[in-house]
Parts: sequence; C-alpha cells; structure tokens
Amino acid sequence: MDIEQIRKQFPILERSVGEKRLVYLDNTATSQTPESVVRSIVDMYDHHKANVHRGVHTVSQEATDMQEHTRRRVRDYIHAESEEEIIFTRGTTEAINLVASSFGDRFRDGDEIILTVMEHHANIVPWQLIQRHKDVKIRVVDINERGELDIEQYKSLFNDRTVLATFTHVSNVLGTVNPVKEMVQIAHEHGVTAMIDGAQASPHLSIDVQDLDCDFYVFSSHKMYGPTGVGVLYGKKEILESMPPYQGGGEMIKHVSFSGTTFADLPFKFEAGTPDFVDIAAFSKALDFIEETGLDNIRRHEEELLQYTTAKLMEIPGVKIYGTAPHKSAVLSFNVGEAHNYDVGFLLDKLGVAVRTGHHCAQPLMERLGIPGTVRASFAVYNTKEEADIFISSLNRIAPMLL
Ligand code: PMP
Repeated sequence: MDIEQIRKQFPILERSVGEKRLVYLDNTATSQTPESVVRSIVDMYDHHKANVHRGVHTVSQEATDMQEHTRRRVRDYIHAESEEEIIFTRGTTEAINLVASSFGDRFRDGDEIILTVMEHHANIVPWQLIQRHKDVKIRVVDINERGELDIEQYKSLFNDRTVLATFTHVSNVLGTVNPVKEMVQIAHEHGVTAMIDGAQASPHLSIDVQDLDCDFYVFSSHKMYGPTGVGVLYGKKEILESMPPYQGGGEMIKHVSFSGTTFADLPFKFEAGTPDFVDIAAFSKALDFIEETGLDNIRRHEEELLQYTTAKLMEIPGVKIYGTAPHKSAVLSFNVGEAHNYDVGFLLDKLGVAVRTGHHCAQPLMERLGIPGTVRASFAVYNTKEEADIFISSLNRIAPMLL
C-alpha cells in the first residue's frame, strides 16, 4: 500500500493550521474525503441532477441508476442478501431513530431493552424517548478495567420481557471491538432481536451481516471517506416488512387516498421524501476507495499506527490511556495528569494536531470511568508514522506544562 499515493487523493492533508502542517487525528468523528468522491458530487450537480424515481426522462433515470448503484454496492459491502434490506438514512443517528420509532412501535409497558455502558448517545437517547409514552426499562451492560464488555453480565440481563439488545460494534471512545457475533447469538437464544451500531466498525472491519446474523446494522458514510448526510440501515427483510413506516410522504407510498394509503415495498417504504441522492451516489466512490485500498491493508496499517503510538504514549509521564482491550480499533483516548482534556486539545491544535476532546457523546461512559472527558486521537488509512511522531513529540512538549 502506497501511503503517499493515498495521501495525494486527500487535498486537505496538504493544508496548514497556523504555521504548522495539519496532522488530522480526528478520524473517529469524521474521516476525510478523497477527490474521487468530491468529483462525483460535482459531476452529479453538473450533469445528472434530477429527482430520483420520479421521471421517465433520461436525466432522472440516470440519477436513479446512480443512487441504486450505491445501494447494490452497500449490499455487497456488508454482504446483505438483498438490496431491499438497505435503507438510506441521513446517518447512523437517523437509522437508530428509525428503528426506535418503527420497531419500537411494538414495545409494551414493562418490556426491556439491553444497551451497553459504552454506547454513543445516538444509541441511548432514541430508546429513552420511547419512555415518554411507554414504561420500557433500559438495562445496561458494564465494562471491565480494560474497557471490554462483561459478557456474563450481558447474559444475565435477559428475561422474558426483553425485546431488544443493541450494542456498538466498536467503541468510539475505548476502541474496543466487541464480540458482536456472540452477542447476537445470545440475544437470539432468548428470542430477542439484536441491533449493531456499526458507525465505528464500517470504515475498518469487514462486515458480513449474514454471518453476524444481526437483525439490524447501522452506519454513516461520512466516517467511511464518504460524503456527509448519508447513512445506512440494514434490516432483515422479514423484520423490515413487519414494521410500520417511519415518516410519511412522497416515495414511500403505493397509493394515497383520503380513505387510506398503501405503502411502497422495501426499501422505499422507509425512504419518505427526496433522498440525498447526490451524496448517496457519491458514497459508492468512497466504497470503491476502501475496496481498492483493501480493508485488510487499511486494518493492518491502522493497527501498526495504534501499536506504535500506544507504546510511545505510555512512555509520557502522567498520561493515562482509557481502553486497553487486546482487540481494539485505532482509537486512543487518554488524559494527561489532572489537566483538562480541552487544554490538551487546545495546545495540540496550536501545534497543528487535530484531536477530539470532551465526552465524545458518551457521557454515561465518562460517568462510569469517573472523568469529565478524554483527549482522543484516532487514525485512518492516510495517517503516517511521521504524523504519529509529531503527535507524540507535541504531547511531550505540552505534558510538562500541564502537570
Ligand atoms: N454511534 C457511534 C458509535 C458513533 O461513533 C457515532 C458518531 N460519532 C454515531 C453513532 C452517530 O453517527 P452520526 O453522527 O453519523 O449519525
């Protein structure tokens, strides 16, 4: 894998922040976008913009074909059985809200949902919103000191009122890769539906929803070198068919009359209104980028950066790392002594290094760890060892000032 060739596809990596060259280590929040994706967006606006699924005219058919091409690419990327199981949303957040609203329609007072303490707010708050109308109980799986889920406790949370188990594939704070296949299997042994939040796994790991046997799998394009405004809900066909629509409007109907409306077949039943077809079309170029680079190559490279940087980080006095599972993704959360994470992030920015600071939309996890937040550095395929060195030497400069 030629990293320099890869970097050339990302013009932002050439830019400076103040006097310093940008070192972008905030990939968990959003990854950068290769030129092929941007060109595809411009090309669509320049040559193929017409509303999808509406016109017999040539341009509309081209736009529709481009959108539907991406649906097939996504189906193949996650090894779904059928493209009817691929619903386009605005992102992971909307996909989870769709499931909470539509699948959640069947929940009754007294039903229970299992979550984990490492969930992103996007996989907590939609379930809490159900509690406004229904007395649904949320039960939470804890972690051990390495930041791994307590699977024995997970097993013990199931009972005859459990209706859903939902958990992240990879923690956006700890980097832990959870044993999701086993967790789905345990849920199914109890007759419980299982959903995986794949927002942090889809850019790094090979995903086979049929092998995982999950009922739902959700993720966002913008974390996968793709455009913003596009997400995916995968759902097993028979479950999606049994769910009521999420939003009403154009595209999602068969026939509308004031005496009653019938709904479109999958996947359109869940895609009310004009979709973000420009970005959906461009998302296929991001999947091309990942597949041409090779997920195995990406994973190996990020793993090397993670090992290298973790070892160097551990040598800096006062640094504490959160999330030390043996099976983890290229996310490094840490604090420097008692210093506020914001101060560390602010000073790193002055040296050109972009990292995330704060609670990372995982406040219950922060509460569990007993801290207000962390500094988080995360890698993508275009990051280099030289960048890791700049990050480490910058921290070596900053740490003594803050301790
Ligand atoms: N789940 C996880 C694990 C995430 O990391 C994120 C994004 N930080 C989300 C859900 C929400 O994704 P989006 O903002 O793209 O909807």
